[in-house]
Amino acid sequence: MSLKNGIKLKKTMFVVTTKCNIKCDNCNSFINKYIFPISYDRKTLVSDARNLLEFVDSIEELVILGGETFLNRNLDYLLEYLFEGEYSNKVETITISTNGTIIPNIETLKILKKHKEKNTIIISKYFDMCETIVPELKKFDINYVINEQVHGEKMEK
Ligand code: SF4
Repeated sequence: MSLKNGIKLKKTMFVVTTKCNIKCDNCNSFINKYIFPISYDRKTLVSDARNLLEFVDSIEELVILGGETFLNRNLDYLLEYLFEGEYSNKVETITISTNGTIIPNIETLKILKKHKEKNTIIISKYFDMCETIVPELKKFDINYVINEQVHGEKMEK
């Protein structure tokens, strides 16, 4: 069976963690149901990305998400691979989904800034704390969008 030719994905999701620091009643990823939530280590992130990109010709939009994406502190390794690895030309744009409450580590901010023309951060605004990340994104001149239409109705911090 050959899957290698002619696969052009418009959009696909890449989960980096099943941990979240917010408990939304209506989480559409059922994050609160995980008994043993995990964040994937750097080796797993990069090898999963490589496996995916080996089998496709192109991805228009790769969405990186969790859980809360920035709880995975290995994100910079994945981003470096996606932006600068051997298949970087296969990914057109990267969207990172976040609840906006966690400040990314400095390495992640630097790599997002370096490739700012290729990525956007989408912040789901559940409550005011969700803009915690905004000053850092502004400081590093990283593109972001605040999504006011959220799917979690009742939250506990
Ligand atoms: S912040 Fe997002 S991932 Fe976390 S529980 Fe709420 S909807 Fe789910």
